[in-house]
Amino acid sequence: MNSAEVLSSDLDLVRRSLLVQKSEILNKHMEFKNLQHSSAKATDEADAVVQDLQDNLNIQLHERDQFSLLLIDKALSKFADGTYGLCECCADVIDVRRLKARPLATLCIACMEDQEAPGKHLFQ
Ligand SMILES: [Zn+2]
Repeated sequence: MNSAEVLSSDLDLVRRSLLVQKSEILNKHMEFKNLQHSSAKATDEADAVVQDLQDNLNIQLHERDQFSLLLIDKALSKFADGTYGLCECCADVIDVRRLKARPLATLCIACMEDQEAPGKHLFQ
């Protein structure tokens, strides 16, 4: 097995883990919809307040999930066009170990550190 094959099987693992994450979020979303449907008839006022809080929590979770789905789909479409694993900033190959730990990473470590360094741009 040459190194290119190792790399592509590693990336395949990453791709599969993204697909699993995506289906988990979609499943949760389906449960959330069912929950909304079955709890639609809260008549007591206190129940209604609790329900309100619950709804807000669910909505927050839901929006975060939407965002995760967006990132996952973006990563999956990069797999489709062969640009997955390339840094969006410098187009360098991102270390596959980093991708395995953070499949949604879009920057290589050097670029990420550049972006995260507080106030660094002020000195450039
Ligand atoms: Zn980079």
